[in-house]
Amino acid sequence: MTAFRADRAALSERAPNRRLTKQCPALQRKIIQCQTCPRLVRYISEIKKTHPSYWCRPVPAFGDFRARILVLGLAPGRFGSNRTGRMFTGDASGTFLYPVLHELGLATKPSAVNRKDGLKLKNTLITAVVRCAPPKNKPTSKELAACRPFWQKEIALLADLRVVVALGKVAHDEYVRFRLKERGGTLSHFPFRHGAVYSFQERPEILIDTYHPSRQNTNTGRLTRTMFLAVFKEAIKWMIAGE
Ligand code: SF4
Repeated sequence: MTAFRADRAALSERAPNRRLTKQCPALQRKIIQCQTCPRLVRYISEIKKTHPSYWCRPVPAFGDFRARILVLGLAPGRFGSNRTGRMFTGDASGTFLYPVLHELGLATKPSAVNRKDGLKLKNTLITAVVRCAPPKNKPTSKELAACRPFWQKEIALLADLRVVVALGKVAHDEYVRFRLKERGGTLSHFPFRHGAVYSFQERPEILIDTYHPSRQNTNTGRLTRTMFLAVFKEAIKWMIAGE
């Protein structure tokens, strides 16, 4: 185990906030009911026919609704969170992600098996820019636009947010465009690069980039555990600095 671990006080769970405890779950219930994207609704309905036990609905955000770190992913995987109904649960990406979160004190367990496995996150919320599994993990620009209000509302509800960790270029671009809309500027000034840290004027949170922990990246060594751990250590440092 690494010597780095954020101190207990910095990672302690925060007192419940009445507004958040109502609004965040209400938003998640709304997301689960969404059927805006015909292509994705058709795709996951087809999967449901052959795999009746699969979730096959939009996947809600998972974790601590008073989070100071937001992990922004791409979209549910067909056999991962589209199967289990929880972010990064039951697939290779989760097998890579959760041990790192656990090692740094951001998750209560190193593994994510299903929605009833008792796993809890501390100071961390995991969401995605698209909430229904897309064919070949590739949402269209129209689907990204349709789903945008959901993760942007989640961000608006995270009053203590200090760090956004973007998993991959699509999540990075979505988040940067969102912030540039408020302050102006061009995306090319904020290129996606693993380990890059960006701040946005008048925003308390910073953005940290990492390659997505997909099998394609982790099996090829493009993203190693050491690299991923370093990104989350950086996130915790910024989280504590922003106290
Ligand atoms: S991808 Fe998002 S907007 Fe589209 S149907 Fe799913 S939840 Fe709704």
